[in-house]
Amino acid sequence: MNLVKGILGIAMGLLLGMWLLNQHHVPSASGQTSTTPSWSSRLFGDGKVHYRLGAIDARFHLSRAELSLLTREAIALWEGPMAKQMFVEDEAAPLTISLVYDQIQETSNQQVSEEEQLSRDHSSHESQQQEYETQKARLQSQQQTFEEHLSEFQQRQQQYQDTLSQLRGQGADRLDEARMEVARVQLEQQQQSLQREQDDLNQSIQSFNANASELNQAASQFNEKVDRYNQRYSGRSFHKGVYDGKSITIYEFRNRDELRLVLAHELGHALGLNHSNDPQGLMYPVLQAQNLSNFHLASSDISLVLQRH
Ligand SMILES: [Zn+2]
Repeated sequence: MNLVKGILGIAMGLLLGMWLLNQHHVPSASGQTSTTPSWSSRLFGDGKVHYRLGAIDARFHLSRAELSLLTREAIALWEGPMAKQMFVEDEAAPLTISLVYDQIQETSNQQVSEEEQLSRDHSSHESQQQEYETQKARLQSQQQTFEEHLSEFQQRQQQYQDTLSQLRGQGADRLDEARMEVARVQLEQQQQSLQREQDDLNQSIQSFNANASELNQAASQFNEKVDRYNQRYSGRSFHKGVYDGKSITIYEFRNRDELRLVLAHELGHALGLNHSNDPQGLMYPVLQAQNLSNFHLASSDISLVLQRH
């Protein structure tokens, strides 16, 4: 009676990981191209970069005051460690900082919301899977109990058969017959109770298998979603911002922390800095490994400034 053979193994081969790793490129069109004017032409006589805020597309939902604050925070990332003023907000400055909304930001918003959805799905799968494991353990102990009862029954049945054939050999008296009749009735009752136990067990197995099959289906749907997400977004590189010598234009940011860093990166170009090879550095061309929320200039960034100033 191998009743539990039908339990489905659940395959939650989650393909997470990839979708957290897609790269976000800070602009490659930067201060190092030949069309960019030399850095000194962007500085005023005081040796500081003068800038002003330009247009902000309303679809970014960012006020002027917020952009101004984030820009000052971005500037502080440079001026703090260098211990000197390097930028001046100046309404007459030729250098403008603008936010231009286009398809890139829309795709980015879409990506953020899909990521949030996937992450919610994933935690709900995890709790379902835990529930599944609990159910499985319960079912296994139910099965074990049943098997113990079954084996007890089989022993008693064997005893009954043995005694019966023994008595037949010796010739049973009425007392023996009465005793055997009692034993037979008890055995029959035990068999009936065992049958009920088996029915219960089979029912549990059925509902467990139905749950497992649902879980498998949900897992495979989730995996498909992750696949689609990966196909859509992995390897996609955004030009979040561009510095062209006259203006800083930001095209995309996922949140305020990222915008602050994109601003600081472009302001670095405005200081005349090129890209570095340090993935932790602000002037690395890809925004990925840096600490977004609590960023401090890397030594590679400081070296770049010291080379120019
Ligand atoms: Zn750059």
